[in-house]
Amino acid sequence: MNPQAISKLKANLRGRVILPEDQDYNQARKVYNGMIDRHPKTIVKCANAGDVRLAVEFARENELLVAVRGGGHNGAGLGTCDDGMVIDFSEMKGVRFDPSSSTLRAEPGCTQGDVNHLGQSFGVAVPAGVVSTTGIAGLTLGGGTGYLTRKYGLTIDSLLGVDMVLADGSFITANAEEHPDLFWAVRGGGGNFGIVTSFLYRARPVDAVVGGPMFWDLSEAREILEWFCDFMPTASEDLYGFFAFLRAQPGDPFPAHLHGKILCVIIWCYSGPQDRADAAFKPIRAFRKPLLEVVGPMPYTGMQSLFDALVPPGLQWYWKGHFVDRPSKEAIDRHLEFGSQVPTLLSTMHLYPIDGAAARLGRSETAFSYRDAPFSMVICGIDPDPENAASITKWTRDYWTAMKPHSLGGAYVNFLMEDEGAERIRATYRDNFERLVEIKTQYDPDNFFARNQNILPRGPGVKATKHPG
Ligand SMILES: Cc1cc2nc3c(=O)[nH]c(=O)nc-3n(C[C@H](O)[C@H](O)[C@H](O)COP(=O)(O)OP(=O)(O)OC[C@H]3O[C@@H](n4cnc5c(N)ncnc54)[C@H](O)[C@@H]3O)c2cc1C
Repeated sequence: MNPQAISKLKANLRGRVILPEDQDYNQARKVYNGMIDRHPKTIVKCANAGDVRLAVEFARENELLVAVRGGGHNGAGLGTCDDGMVIDFSEMKGVRFDPSSSTLRAEPGCTQGDVNHLGQSFGVAVPAGVVSTTGIAGLTLGGGTGYLTRKYGLTIDSLLGVDMVLADGSFITANAEEHPDLFWAVRGGGGNFGIVTSFLYRARPVDAVVGGPMFWDLSEAREILEWFCDFMPTASEDLYGFFAFLRAQPGDPFPAHLHGKILCVIIWCYSGPQDRADAAFKPIRAFRKPLLEVVGPMPYTGMQSLFDALVPPGLQWYWKGHFVDRPSKEAIDRHLEFGSQVPTLLSTMHLYPIDGAAARLGRSETAFSYRDAPFSMVICGIDPDPENAASITKWTRDYWTAMKPHSLGGAYVNFLMEDEGAERIRATYRDNFERLVEIKTQYDPDNFFARNQNILPRGPGVKATKHPG
């Protein structure tokens, strides 16, 4: 890169430019997944939307691949790249609640914890995921599932609008009235269409919740999984639960004889009136007494951060997902086969319901297509030791392959890895895909925003590179 151009960029920015020779480069290039080790040419830590425009202009003039980093949690590491520019939002964490319209506005460097920490003090929240350190930006743009999905829908169902810098450097607002096509596309279509500099959400009333895990012995997993898949769609939308296989951690709340043992678990979150919580849990406790139960009242932000300490940044992660129907007997056989081989203390499989309010919107109302799938599953190979990267990857891939005949075709876009291919992306968007291609062609005809689960624009000269960088 031309040193004069870099000096000019530095001088014009309110934020910072970090180059490979800078002391904080190695820290700044890290993303959450410790398996990802990329070396961008430059990292631009933006302070405002003006900085984003300058960065886009610089990248265009210098023909740099651009990666956009919100919270940096993307499993595939799409928030960074080799030899390009990272547009980094880690210093843009403003969040504001407007009581008169009951809306929350968040900058793209916010984690979901940042947004809901403010919300909690006003008794509201933006429905988001199950680990509070996840970036609100990437999570929202992919759809966003979590503890409030059955009650309030996906995260995008609370999104009212976005401010964006487009590939040509222009700055626009997209919402139901302005650029409605773009607003449709960013609700599930990921970072394909431009860089979001501000998200406006409807704030949802959320008081304290009653939640936590109930654990059962692995020998009971078939009955628990069958029961869970039958029970969940019939339960009140105030109740959310996701099923998982995991190993008991060597410490609280597990007694010594369970340490390291593979268990099955349902993590519950009841967000209805507190005086009806016992009634909501009654059929669950009546079905089968758990080995261990750690369910109790807590703030919603407490529920969202319940597992944060288990999954700090820097672990090795390899994950893959499927949208699935209620599992057949054969599918449960496969779950038991691989669930009984969870390879490491942190590896897991989660089965998330996406019914209730999320399923009340039609599959073409936003870019997120699989609203009619009852469950989204993710298999996560996780471990601190890079020596175990191969074994956790293999378990994840083998489990995923075994479940493929039982899947509905696509996967939640935020659970796709980098090597999944164009057909998988198409399958994930189903009949929304062609419309996404049209919108991509209109707003990003040169595929400037290519470092994402990429939707290629139509036209001559567009590179069919799957994931450059
Ligand atoms: C521990 C953990 C728990 C998770 N739990 C959930 C969950 O409960 N529910 C759920 O839905 N997902 C969950 N996820 C998946 C998560 O939604 C994705 O990993 C998501 O990509 C994270 O967003 P981010 O901003 O942190 O990602 P980043 O790595 O920063 O960015 C990912 C991609 O998003 C796009 N992007 C980011 N910021 C912008 C922006 N401002 N403008 C345009 N594009 C942008 C870019 O294309 C980028 O490549 C979880 C992930 C982890 C690691």
